Amino acid sequence: MKVFLILGFLLILSPSWAVTPGDPFASKRQQMVREQIEGRGVRDGRVLEVLRRVQRHLFVPASLRNSAYDDRPLPIGHDQTISQPYIVAYMTEAAKINPADRVLEIGTGSGYQAAVLGELAKEVYTIEILKPLAESSGSLLERLGYKNIKVRWGDGYQGWKEQAPFDVIIVTAAPSEIPGELVKQLKTGGRMVVPIGGFFQELYLITKTDSGIKKEALLPVRFVPMIHPAEKKK
Ligand code: SAH
Repeated sequence: MKVFLILGFLLILSPSWAVTPGDPFASKRQQMVREQIEGRGVRDGRVLEVLRRVQRHLFVPASLRNSAYDDRPLPIGHDQTISQPYIVAYMTEAAKINPADRVLEIGTGSGYQAAVLGELAKEVYTIEILKPLAESSGSLLERLGYKNIKVRWGDGYQGWKEQAPFDVIIVTAAPSEIPGELVKQLKTGGRMVVPIGGFFQELYLITKTDSGIKKEALLPVRFVPMIHPAEKKK
């Protein structure tokens, strides 16, 4: 009896068994922002502050937690990936998000980019074509308390008509050309950050003007392709 009591007590005290209070990856995350993000020229103070705060390790599979702050994308299942931290920061900075903005994201994936946007904007609408990912990221974001983020299972090429127009649209899968319906759902003066291409892709900043769009190439990137619903694997 005594032995069990002592064993039980040790289990409770032992840090490897207990739920770790606080944030075991805090210093890795600060280092990630310093070296990978500030180190490569991202300067927007609000973006840097949010990247220092959002716990990226909660958005990757448990077996990859230790790699969550590495300088690369990581697999999240269903042949999809969570983007490299630098790319998330770069795209977010390029979109110039204001606190009053309403943002549409295409390709929820893990929900990490949505969480970053949710910290910076008033409302975030995010669409994911793969049902299991839409469900898991939706429940994670809810558990983390993001009341201003709505996840929809659906086809991003259609956008989110009921909530349009948006100040910002961020596309995190690559279409072969700029999706026309998304341009329609952008406000005049609104910004869209979108990777375009096939094997070779370029990240573009599209600004909607009174007379059409302005298109600016930012940098070469490598995203998973944006899927047409008809091509979707079961
Ligand atoms: N923003 C994500 C990265 C997602 S990877 C993150 O932070 O983790 C790209 C995602 O786009 C994948 O989850 C993929 O399933 C999704 N996707 C691909 N085509 C799509 C489409 N037509 N509509 C919506 N989502 C799509």
